[in-house]
Amino acid sequence: MCSKPVIGVFALQGAVIPHKPHIEACGAEFRAVKTQADFEAVDAFILPGGESTTMLKLIERFDLWDILAEQFAEKPIWGICAGTILMAETVTDPVQKSFNLLPITVRRNGYGRQLNSHHAPIDGYNVSFIRAPVITDISDSITVLAEHEGSPVWVECGNKVASTFHPELTMDYPSPMHKAFIAKI
Ligand code: GLN
Repeated sequence: MCSKPVIGVFALQGAVIPHKPHIEACGAEFRAVKTQADFEAVDAFILPGGESTTMLKLIERFDLWDILAEQFAEKPIWGICAGTILMAETVTDPVQKSFNLLPITVRRNGYGRQLNSHHAPIDGYNVSFIRAPVITDISDSITVLAEHEGSPVWVECGNKVASTFHPELTMDYPSPMHKAFIAKI
């Protein structure tokens, strides 16, 4: 691509703005996206961390499921924490609806509650696990980019990427995960 890629960060809920300096440090354009017209105008999506149940409720309330499913099928997407939960094929604890974009199973809040949130170095970069899901199963088509405490935490399959941790909250720009994702576009 010759012009700057435009990265749409899904902005109904969650950690949206902290992505801006990382995306800009990679030479791409940040855009917070909420509507069908916004979705159609971007080259790739980040589904940010936040609360997957709240995101699901807002997607239903604004009737965005079908347009998002159509856009997500076509474009590169990186899901972070709650975003990983929305992208998974199967969600447990409890079972909930998802876009089924990656053949993985995730257990919500798999490290425990808020008190078990923690920082860890992944690929030499300090990231945050905040009420993170644990990826409990992956299909053979998944490439594991990083593991933590014995489970995959950063995975990809084609143009779909997921991380159970937040790199965007670390103020050292850009994170290796933003660099890797934007390099794919
Ligand atoms: N625990 C949240 C959920 O289940 C995810 C937390 C996060 O995105 N940091 O949706």
